[in-house]
Amino acid sequence: MIDRLRARMPGLAALALALAFAAVTPPLAAQQPAPTPPRGMSAIKQTDLRRDLYAIASDAMRGREAGTLDELRASIWEADQARKAGLQPAGEDGTYFQWFKMKRTRLSPSSVIAVGGRTLTLWKDVAASGTVESDVHAPTVFAGDASDTSIDVRGKVAIATLVPPPPGTRQFEGVYSPEWHYARAAIAAEGLALTRRGAVAVILVADSIGDVAFDAVTAVSSRGFYDVDDSATTAAGGRYGSIGRGPPVLLAHRALLDALRPNGQNAEVRLVTESFDYPSVNVIAKVRGTDPKLRDEYVMFSSHTDHDGVRFPMAGDSIWNGADDNGSTTVAILAIGRAFVKQPAKRSALFIWHGAEERGLLGSRYHAVHPVVPLHQIVAVLNGDLIGRNNPDTASLLGVQPPHRNSADLVRMALAANAATGKFVLDSTWDRPTHPEGWYFRSDHVPYVRHGVPALMYSTNLHPDYHTPRDEPSRIDYAKLTRMTDWMYETGWLVANAAKRPAVDPGFKLER
Ligand SMILES: [Zn+2]
Repeated sequence: MIDRLRARMPGLAALALALAFAAVTPPLAAQQPAPTPPRGMSAIKQTDLRRDLYAIASDAMRGREAGTLDELRASIWEADQARKAGLQPAGEDGTYFQWFKMKRTRLSPSSVIAVGGRTLTLWKDVAASGTVESDVHAPTVFAGDASDTSIDVRGKVAIATLVPPPPGTRQFEGVYSPEWHYARAAIAAEGLALTRRGAVAVILVADSIGDVAFDAVTAVSSRGFYDVDDSATTAAGGRYGSIGRGPPVLLAHRALLDALRPNGQNAEVRLVTESFDYPSVNVIAKVRGTDPKLRDEYVMFSSHTDHDGVRFPMAGDSIWNGADDNGSTTVAILAIGRAFVKQPAKRSALFIWHGAEERGLLGSRYHAVHPVVPLHQIVAVLNGDLIGRNNPDTASLLGVQPPHRNSADLVRMALAANAATGKFVLDSTWDRPTHPEGWYFRSDHVPYVRHGVPALMYSTNLHPDYHTPRDEPSRIDYAKLTRMTDWMYETGWLVANAAKRPAVDPGFKLER
């Protein structure tokens, strides 16, 4: 599941919406009688899910960051498990792999920031708030907390102390990483105010919360942004970043206040960007269907391999294991693969572990444009992301209600499957366009929806360990993960054997 920022939320204004998490309601309870579970379901075992998740989310996998050897190691592990489970390769050249290039653009280490002859090291003393190019040479002016607008900052490098973001962007209760959200909102608001007053660069000296968030701002901003290095994919849209325009805005450590405060110091802010390629990979496998007429149609189960890698330590732990995100679905669809091997369906089943989801849904964007089977032969995408935490009896199904629902047929099958398996009380709030997290847009089903494939996302939603080193296999509810796996499998089974493939709702159009 990607960060809100990379998912291009409508902006911090969205946070102004009260985080009124509506009570969990069961408006979507299925009416259909429960079908008998298919024989293959006995191949889905809690002990397998636990064993596999302890492997894929172990410290040895080093957080599986996209474009690194760690993601490749995890991908090879997945292909190995798929082969052992009896799934056939469905990638390129008879392998389980579909390779693609990611293009990363970031601020270069050759960037120079200096004030009064003192060099400030990027990502150590100061953090840039975005990937922006600049070549500024100007004197400094200390603008206090930026509230005194009579201070003339025009043509100068404005130094100011970070102040809390304005009301309306301050609802950080109940979202993950509140310090990071605070810092981003505060930097954005104050940086904008000072550049509007004519500053050619802004250096904000962190307050106590901003200082806590410094490592997180660095971890996100220093990575820059990523895209797929493939013209067909970029032409299909959905990019997640670009080189910024306008004056640079930097966050400085609090300890630098005395050094930065004097007016009229010569300052240089020369930010240089650089771009380079990394390999990433989708792992793809299949189980052929049994019906000669229907076997060229595919039900696709989807997860993502990558997580956030090795980052700054929290409580002594620097490996962001990504057990729930998205080790949980990664092992679930492996188990579903075993179920289809045990009992193939009429249609074929396709299994994909996407690369580089956390860097902007890159693997799914690439595969939606370069599918291993014609896209119109993929009758449904069942994607999961974070499916093993929170209350044992609740879950979310995303894409069940307008404006996100693109196939009422598929929704009916998924609800019937829930009634037959997990019997979860469905929390419909996460599927609403007004949900402050914008949850629907943050995983790998989205590119397929944009290309007209019926799709759903299964999730057990956010928790305080999301995108931290605390997302560990020991914190997963394995009984719940098993029920979620059963539910995804049962849905796919119903789709794979249905006389008619699920139709796309007439007039569906994904806005945003
Ligand atoms: Zn994630």
